[in-house]
Amino acid sequence: MANTSNPRTFVPCQREGCQGTAFEERKYCCYLCRTVAHELENAQRACEALGDFELTNELWAQVVALSDECSRYLDLGFKLRTLAMEAGVTPKQWQDIRRGRVTTG
Ligand SMILES: [Zn+2]
Repeated sequence: MANTSNPRTFVPCQREGCQGTAFEERKYCCYLCRTVAHELENAQRACEALGDFELTNELWAQVVALSDECSRYLDLGFKLRTLAMEAGVTPKQWQDIRRGRVTTG
């Protein structure tokens, strides 16, 4: 299994609090992080434009909580993947399990 292509460089995921890594040309480790990061930015702009109100404060607190939950979910998923690898599951098999493409062949 020769590696003929250029090795891809990994960078830390740009979403605050995420421990994941992203390919250099991408900012985020996954679709979920990208979406949550964009919602953080959207909420920040909305809150800054409207100012300090109960609703803007609540919205901001909620999007930060969403981001924290996203980090926790991804971290648990990573731990589960590590456990599966240790049990002999290959990365390809793990991907197939997650995407519902498991076959007995
Ligand atoms: Zn991430």
